[in-house]
Formats: sequence, structure tokens, C-alpha cells
Amino acid sequence: MSTNPARSNAIEAIASQPRLQGSFDFRNEKIDLIYGQNVFSLDKMEKRLPKDVFKSLKANIESGAKLDAAAADVVAAAIKDWALERGATHYAHVFYPLTGFTAEKHDTFFEPSGNGTLAQFSGKALIQAEPDASSFPNGGLRSTFEARGYTAWDVTSPAYIFDTENGSTLCIPTAFVSWKGEALDKKTPLLRSMSAVNKAASRVLALFGKKHGYISASCGPEQEYFLVDSRLYHLRPDLYTCGRSLFGAKPAKGQEFEDQYFGTIPDRVLACMMETERECFKLGIPIKTRHNEVAPAQYEVAPIYESANVAHDHQMLTMTLLRRVATKHGFVCLLAEKPFAGVNGSGKHVNWSIGGAGVGNLLEPGHNPHENAQFLTFCSAVIRAVDLHQGLLRASVASAGNDHRLGANEAPPAIISIYLGDMLNEVIEQVKKSGSASSSRKGGHMTLGVDTLPVLPKDAGDRNRTSPFAFTGNKFEFRAVGSAFSVAGPLTVLNTIMADSLDKLADELAAALKKNSDFNSALQGVLKDILTKHGQIIFNGNGYSEEWHKEAAKRGLKNLRTTPDALPEIVAKSTVEVFERQGVLSKAELESREEIYTHSYVLAINTESKLVSDIAKTLLLPAALKYAADLTPVEMTKSGGKLRKEVVGLADQLSAAIEALDDARDVSKSDTHAQAKHTCDKVLPAMLKVRAAADALEEIVADEYWPLPSYQELLFLR
Ligand code: ADP
Ligand code: MG
Repeated sequence: MSTNPARSNAIEAIASQPRLQGSFDFRNEKIDLIYGQNVFSLDKMEKRLPKDVFKSLKANIESGAKLDAAAADVVAAAIKDWALERGATHYAHVFYPLTGFTAEKHDTFFEPSGNGTLAQFSGKALIQAEPDASSFPNGGLRSTFEARGYTAWDVTSPAYIFDTENGSTLCIPTAFVSWKGEALDKKTPLLRSMSAVNKAASRVLALFGKKHGYISASCGPEQEYFLVDSRLYHLRPDLYTCGRSLFGAKPAKGQEFEDQYFGTIPDRVLACMMETERECFKLGIPIKTRHNEVAPAQYEVAPIYESANVAHDHQMLTMTLLRRVATKHGFVCLLAEKPFAGVNGSGKHVNWSIGGAGVGNLLEPGHNPHENAQFLTFCSAVIRAVDLHQGLLRASVASAGNDHRLGANEAPPAIISIYLGDMLNEVIEQVKKSGSASSSRKGGHMTLGVDTLPVLPKDAGDRNRTSPFAFTGNKFEFRAVGSAFSVAGPLTVLNTIMADSLDKLADELAAALKKNSDFNSALQGVLKDILTKHGQIIFNGNGYSEEWHKEAAKRGLKNLRTTPDALPEIVAKSTVEVFERQGVLSKAELESREEIYTHSYVLAINTESKLVSDIAKTLLLPAALKYAADLTPVEMTKSGGKLRKEVVGLADQLSAAIEALDDARDVSKSDTHAQAKHTCDKVLPAMLKVRAAADALEEIVADEYWPLPSYQELLFLR
């Protein structure tokens, strides 16, 4: 219904697009054959490798150890043969620098030889490469003369082939480190944190007398995203530059009808989802769930959980595939946390648990009192970890984009707390009071076991969507993670603080057992102590409410509303101690990260604020002034005069707001932290003032003059 030519052309094209023609049909495909076809998985290794090499590689995969050079040559030859059979012409070490994106450098297998070419791929090329690292953020860890960075194959994550329209590339997931071995990426600390969890959990389980295999952290990340039509997107410089809208009046229809959540998925969107899932299946990414989300044009995709490290690599690939396939379908996938003001933003729920062979999921309430003692032990370790490092958890999800969710009264609040649900909460309260719980509420199992800890019924907790960190039956769900985030940071923090809490618990329990030979009463003493000290982090009410903010302040919980408030937690004394003790990141590595993330925050808002100023000056103010000028002939009429006055008034407001923004943008501080603070306190509010005047103009300027597609068009046309 737009009368602006660019917009109306786009809308006409959308309205008259031909009926969908699928490029494949799931009904005619054998999912069995597609699934994992592009992954060099264990079963392919077993078929293609000599027995002894396979055995040693498998052992390396299980323990996360490095491959020796001789074995590497054999493995490389087998991977190369497989990749060539599947049509790959190139190979790439894929790594995850601190930009939060995926990076890769491609080389071809083929080298000139005699009159033809020969496909080459040595063990060395498989296990190590040296991309030019000087352009990746290192936060002071490297000076340019020692800019070497190495990528090293992470054997715990399988190699895979990435297909594009014009060719295929063998991809090798790698860790990226400096020549001194300092982590320059997100995968290295994640791997280190997984090993820390294994060590610490094993100590606790030893005290329980348990035999078990490798204890691993698991993750099931739910991804929210928006799909908008690419033709409208390309008329919005804010969307294609920053990934989120910087202007836009509130549409007549938003999400208030609640007709979107779990609603029927539109055909064009469903086709796009199916193709994304098919690509995921080829790469062995176990996508399980798809549905509409709360906001119009918002959707979700979720896999079955996997080992945290593999889940991370798969999550990064899922984001890549969401974007790629959307383009093929004439959509653009927006992964930013808050693409549109006034409707829900997007998060990434990081479902997390730890467990292993022989003991299963350690966060699963058990079937008998003894299993429950073990569950309550691991649960108490989580409670202590989250209470002690609430600020760090908040920092692990801090970014310019995510600030628009957290602390903005919509998604989980910036205050970190734990939701347990009534039933588990009651058990915890009883352990706190008496050192033993006698009964648990409702739900059937009111058993007093011989071991005095009650049987916990499964799924007793209600859902509480306002909690940033919720127990959901057999896992914790960290909901404050932003939709565009790599899950590596939050997972590394969770694993590391959990490992440290478990280590401390093992110390305390061992000491208590020296004094008290009764295991249960010794354990209950330890748990009572932990829960008494750290129970303050538990909150089961409405996380959005004003009362909670007051109550949290009374409890002394941190309320880190913005990224500049939160990021210093990365270098706090408590963080450095734990990360060094657990061997996950050194002080220097933590400092480099804090520096890089602070800088990224400033960069992100600098770009946005420049764009706000540019769009306002060169697109919106001229549109308003032209409209005002065209109204001049009707100025003497009552309605014409009133309208013109209003337009001129708002145009003047807009112009003044732009000037104030430019002044704020001009201030440059000597250090990154001061700049971040200035950006947050002065530039962001100035941007909002420009937007407010522009949005008010959008509501009264005649449609044909308005150059930007409206929210209505972006959110409802497909
Ligand atoms: P919910 O509806 O409560 O969010 P789902 O069953 O849909 O729960 O699971 C959401 C995500 O959590 C999925 O990716 C799922 O595989 C994952 N998940 C389930 N159990 C675990 C677990 N023990 N550890 C980690 N992730 C899990
Ligand atoms: Mg969930």
C-alpha cells in the first residue's frame, strides 16, 4: 500500500511472486542417507583407516589429546580420498576468532605436476596451519612482529564438507593460538574448560564411590531469528549495515494478538526452514525443532543436545546455514538481538548439563534417595558457582546488541538469578534448614528414603520465562545469551565456574568425611553450608517486576545493566583466580578479551550512531522538508496549516537532535573504557532522540515521501 516508488516496487514484487517450487522433496528423500553424509565421522574413519590408527585416533577424540605426526599422515590421506570422492576441491582450517564469527582460509588440494595436477594433503596440513593472524583481534597479546597465529585440528570435532552452489570445501575445525600458545579464539578456552569439568566432577564422583567415563558438558542451543524479505531489507541501510533497524514507527499491529507463537508456519518460510534443516542434516547437525516465535516474522530452530564443543561448532554452522539458505529463498535472516523496537528480541537459550558414561546426566533428579543426594550435590555446586560469579555470567552475554534485551524489561533481566521451581526449591529450603530434606511437595513422591533425601519428581517445576537461568527438569537453561552470540563464551564460563565449585565441594566433603564417617550426614553438612551461603541467588518469582529489582538490591545481587558495566567482571579478581586455577585462561588472556569486547562495543555503537546521523540527514529530514514545502500552497486551510506546522516543528526537533548526536559522537576519550562509558551514557541516548523525532515524522509525513520500508511492511509481508 506504499506509494513511495522504491517501496511500492518491492511490495509489488513480493505480492506477485510465483508459487513456491521446491528444489527437493523430503518425502522422496532417504533422511538416513542424507544424515551426516558430509561428515568424516567415526564410522567412516573406521572403514577407511588401518585398525591401529583408528584406535589411537578414537582414543585421542575421547581424551581430547593431539594426534602424532605419523598417524596424522595416514588420517590426512584417508580424509583426502573421502573428500575428493565427494567432489571437494579445497580444504580449509575453520577457526573461531574473538570477533565471535567463523573464520576460514581455503587452499586447493590440487598442485601442478608433470602435465597435470596432483591432489596433495599432508598430515601437517591437517593438524596445523598458519593463517596470517595479524588482522584478528588479539587485545595486546601479540605485537605485529610476532603476529604468528596457528590453527590446530580439534580432533574432538569431526572434519566435514561444506557444499556451495559452485563447489565443495573440506573443513577442519581448529583451535587458534599464538606462537606462545595463548588462546586467540573461542574454542581453545572451551576445550580447556571441558577438561576442567571432567577433572573436578571426577573428584566428587570418586567420593561417591562411582565408576564412570569421561564427564562432559552438554549443550542444546535454541536459536531465535527473524526472516524479512530481501527486497525490503535492501531499502533499509540500517538493516544491511547494522543488522537491526535504527528507525521505525510502531506498527498498527505488533505482537499483542499473540497469534504468532507456535502459529502455522507460512509456506515460504517453511520451505526455507526445510532447506536449512536438510543442509544441517548433511553436516550431522541434529536439528529437532522448528516453530514460530512470539514476534511477527520471528522463528526458532533447536537441535538435540550434544557435547558442548561439538554443539558449539554445529551452532556456528547453523547460523551460517540460516543466513545462506534464507538468501536463496529471497529472505534475509536477522540474527541481531533486537532488530525491531516494540516487539520481542531474539535470544539463544543455552541448555547446559554435565554427565558421562556410567553416571548419566548429573543434573537429573534420580529415582532413589541415593541418586538424589548426588543430584543435589551437583545442583548445589551450580548454585554456588552462579552466586559467586553472577557478574561474570552477565559479562559473558554482554554486547551492544544484547543490551537492548537485558535490562530493557523484556527478555531476562540483567540481574542473574536461578529459578528452581517450587518443588526443588522446597527441597533446597529444607536442606538449608535441617541439613536434610524430609519431604517434597505435591507430585506423588512423598518418600522419606533411608538416606533421608527425598525422591524428586521429574518436571515438577513450572516454566518461568522471566528467569535468566532456570532449572528445567534435568538441565539448566541460560536464557540471557544473545541470538547473535557464539555459545562458546557462556559455556566456557559455566564449565569453569562449575569445575571450581566442584573442586571446592570435593575438598569440603573430603574434610567432612575425615571427621564424620557417615557419608550422608557429612554430605548434608556440606550442602547445608553451601546453600545457606549462596541460596540468595535463587529467585522463583517474576524477574521483570519492580519488586524483584528492589529485593535483588537488598540481597546484594549485581544489576549490571549495560555492557560497559558488565565487561570489567572478566578481569575481576574472582574471575582471574578461578580461570587460572582451572587452567582455562590466564590473566593476560582474560585482559585481552576484556579489551577486545570493550572495543567491539564502541565500534558497534559508533557505526550505528554514524548511520543514524547519515540516514536522518540524507533521507529522513529531506523527506520531511520536501513534504512541508509541498504543503505550503494549502497552508491557509485549517488542516493544511495545522499539518505543516506539525511537520516543521518535528523537522526542527529532528535537526536539533542530529546536531546533538554529532556533538556527542565527536567526543573522543583517551582510553577504550572511558570511550565505552561515553558511548553508553551520551551517544546512545542521543541516537534515541533522533529516532524519536524521525519516528514521529514517519507517522504524519505522506507515505509517498517516506523512503524507508515501514515496520508493517518488514514484519508482515512475505
Ligand atoms: P524446553 O522446551 O524446556 O526448552 P526442550 O526439550 O525443547 O526443552 O529442549 C530444549 C533444548 O535443550 C534442546 O536443544 C534439547 O536437546 C536440550 N536439552 C535437553 N536435555 C538436555 C540436557 N540434559 N543437557 C543439555 N541440553 C539438553
Ligand atoms: Mg527452552
